[in-house]
Amino acid sequence: METAKKTKHWREFFPSDNLAASDLQERGVKHLALTISHAAPGEVHDTTTSKKKKLPILHFVEKGIKPMALNVTNCQTIESITGTPDYTTWRNVAIVVYLDKAKYAGKLKDCLRIKPSTACKKPPEETIPIPPCQNCNKPIIDSDGFTAAQIAVTTLKRHGASLCFACHIEMKDSPAEESPDTP
Ligand SMILES: [Zn+2]
Repeated sequence: METAKKTKHWREFFPSDNLAASDLQERGVKHLALTISHAAPGEVHDTTTSKKKKLPILHFVEKGIKPMALNVTNCQTIESITGTPDYTTWRNVAIVVYLDKAKYAGKLKDCLRIKPSTACKKPPEETIPIPPCQNCNKPIIDSDGFTAAQIAVTTLKRHGASLCFACHIEMKDSPAEESPDTP
């Protein structure tokens, strides 16, 4: 998967409330796999006309990702992904936001585009490393139909520590760790 160089983008001096191409360039990625939480009407400051413009704003489930103002092209893409033009129903949709170039006022400018998440495998720079089991220190691996990440998250919730599947079973069987209402 292609990776871009991290950029000290001049945009950092002009922070934007919304996700911009420079946010991806600063991260050194060409695309981000994201999940739409919802879309809502919003206002953006148009730098060319210095006026406020009403636009649909896409909000994401992932933490630390700014909302993204949508243009017509990106709205059409989401419509084709979700199968509906009703932006109030755009929820829990996995998408990929990627860097592209578009002609704007006669000049080629960096922009953000959207594609369905199936069109792109999750890039390696976004895979979160799974720490080893906090009990036996062995690596947590896919087991019993669950991915390593699912096991790490579930055991952290249930036991307060990320455990491998074997340790999880052991903990589950130990009556001291069992709360009365868990199955
Ligand atoms: Zn273990």
